[in-house]
Amino acid sequence: MKVSIIIPCYNEEDVLNTFYERINNVSKELIDYELEFLFINDGSKDKTEKIIEELNKKDSRVKLFSFSRNFGHQAAVSCGIHNCCSDIAVIIDADLQDPPEIIPDMIKMYEDIKCPIIYGKRVSRKGETFFKKLTASIFYRLINLLSEVKFPVDTGDFRLIDRNVIETYKSFGENPKYIRGLISWTGFEQKAFEYEREARAAGHTKYTFKKMLKLALTGILSFSVKPLKISLFLGTLAIFTALSFSVRVFYLYLFNPDKLVKGYASAIIIILFMGGFQLLSLSVISEYLANIFNEIKKRPEYILKKTIK
Ligand code: UDP
Ligand code: MG
Repeated sequence: MKVSIIIPCYNEEDVLNTFYERINNVSKELIDYELEFLFINDGSKDKTEKIIEELNKKDSRVKLFSFSRNFGHQAAVSCGIHNCCSDIAVIIDADLQDPPEIIPDMIKMYEDIKCPIIYGKRVSRKGETFFKKLTASIFYRLINLLSEVKFPVDTGDFRLIDRNVIETYKSFGENPKYIRGLISWTGFEQKAFEYEREARAAGHTKYTFKKMLKLALTGILSFSVKPLKISLFLGTLAIFTALSFSVRVFYLYLFNPDKLVKGYASAIIIILFMGGFQLLSLSVISEYLANIFNEIKKRPEYILKKTIK
């Protein structure tokens, strides 16, 4: 059986050699399998590309796909899935947070139960800030609340997928992609493989707050139109509040004018509320519009400048 390991890398010069050593050790347990390591260099500015080229010279299982610039983690994983020609693929981060040593157990689980998707579920996350854990936890629950498709919580892209899932994934043309969502969306059966997430082996996170926010927005906007419905609901609520308020003011004006507060406080509150709400709804609509705009241009998800197989 052929197994591809997909490794997205962005400025990972500090960990790549250690990663290779560990995955190479793991491969000794997998001698019955034909392995390939697809390293995707996502426009790194450090020696990432050079290190992968060196690894390729000494080990022909190492392949390099190098982007012309930084297209983002999801695009890098996509490139790996598009280019693997194996029976199963395992997506894993380069920073050793997801220990490669558990890959043989995942493969064994796949062979035992023949489940097409086996996703890594983090039972603990070492070396991550409270903020990261909190935002991640809120995000996974929020997306499940909004989306019609249910996604497993506390999972990243660390997972094993089989040929059927790979081929189905290749047919997805949308851009940008929220990969773990799309894989769940296929409807193929999925099972969790629980593991302890380690701290990053070296270097620092390449997922800046901005990139995290972008991923979260892609996830929510591509799997739910509920934000549009929520703004409709809130808009209606705001109009009713404003209407009831005017009825009250009119009533007081007719029957109890002394009680009518002189001043603009209430009017200002309503104006601010309505104004704020309109801006919020507009921004929700513009996010969808921006996504449609990007889709319509049909630009490629990533551009390869170098490939070494
Ligand atoms: N990564 C990437 N492109 C990016 C950001 C990250 O290919 O623009 C890779 C990175 O090299 C790593 C994986 O995606 O292999 C996960 O990134 P990181 O570990 O920095 O994220 P975190 O674990 O902190 O969420
Ligand atoms: Mg990491």
